[in-house]
Amino acid sequence: MEEIKIFRDAIKDIPTLASNIKKSHEKIVGYLCSYAPEELIYAAGFHPMRLFSSKSDIILAEDHLQTYCCSLVRGVLEDSLSGRLDFLDGTVFPHTCDSIQRLSDIWRMKGKYDLFWDVVLPVKLNTQSAKIYMKDVLNRFKTDLERAAGTTITDDDLNRSISTFNLIRSHLSKLYQLQSRNPGILKGEDLYSIVKGAMVMDRDEVARLLPLIVETLEKTSPPESRAKRIVLSGSICDSPGIYAMLETSGAVIVGDDLCTGQRWFEGRILENKDPITAIAERYMDRIVCPAKHMNPVVRGENIVALARENKADGVVFMLLKFCDPHAFDYPYLKEFLDNEGIKNMLIEMDDQQENLGQLSTRLETFIHMI
Ligand code: SF4
Ligand code: SF4
Repeated sequence: MEEIKIFRDAIKDIPTLASNIKKSHEKIVGYLCSYAPEELIYAAGFHPMRLFSSKSDIILAEDHLQTYCCSLVRGVLEDSLSGRLDFLDGTVFPHTCDSIQRLSDIWRMKGKYDLFWDVVLPVKLNTQSAKIYMKDVLNRFKTDLERAAGTTITDDDLNRSISTFNLIRSHLSKLYQLQSRNPGILKGEDLYSIVKGAMVMDRDEVARLLPLIVETLEKTSPPESRAKRIVLSGSICDSPGIYAMLETSGAVIVGDDLCTGQRWFEGRILENKDPITAIAERYMDRIVCPAKHMNPVVRGENIVALARENKADGVVFMLLKFCDPHAFDYPYLKEFLDNEGIKNMLIEMDDQQENLGQLSTRLETFIHMI
């Protein structure tokens, strides 16, 4: 499908994509974490661009971040220090995991880009005071963006931005629902390209393309699939090879609990109320990531519900090496799944990992076993 090819091509060459985006957006603001308030950045006329590691060898970042930091933050720092992110005008760091916070300190001290923000969102997300604090932080970030853009962000600007992001998010949800209903309707690698593209491409273009893809797929009837249904869980998945590997082993991804998947795009921002309140409420209602707190069982219940709703045969935990929040979360999530009799396995990955052979054998064994 031509529209999917646009996503595939866009994510292959991020610097070229960025230079094209610069023709229509004043500035590009990078972010690493799904708690970055993209709607505000977009409403300021800037382009929010999620940063992924180019997976180059770590050389320059070695002097700043130890090997026990996750490969995402080490890789992105390497890209910055070696000039591969020179298209950035600024970066925003939401207050989340330790690795991102340390990266933020180094980033600020290096001062490579004109704009820099730490957005210190609350850690607990289930109290009235957290909501008031969250709104304050978002309002302060809005003022900072206005200063950087030399303009006022009106409620109309915000509402337009919110409706674009709502459209993108609801269509990504529809794609996931279609994939769960008709496994294999989309190749895993195409699903990965679309979701990643939606985090880096011009959002107006994404909002134009996604409905066309959904409309075409809704008219498609793929043959019935006998593939094993898998839910992925973890932080980020920037390894398209995993999807292909699972498919070759006779499985298909039918849902995920990933920071680069459903956790990033789920939840609608209400369009009939004060926009800052509505943005804050989405963050408070969305399933938390393990670097935040809500209640002691919410993530366990969520992974079980995801597996049940998607009739999953199994759950694969994809842990990025040295990702502490997810490593601490894993035993508790596993216990929830084990108690429900839902088969699961853990794989550890690294952005710099080249040899996926051993992983492939382990995945194949798991798929045959479930
Ligand atoms: S997993 Fe949590 S802390 Fe890590 S990038 Fe995603 S939202 Fe941020
Ligand atoms: S992968 Fe883990 S450690 Fe790395 S940025 Fe995301 S949450 Fe933080």
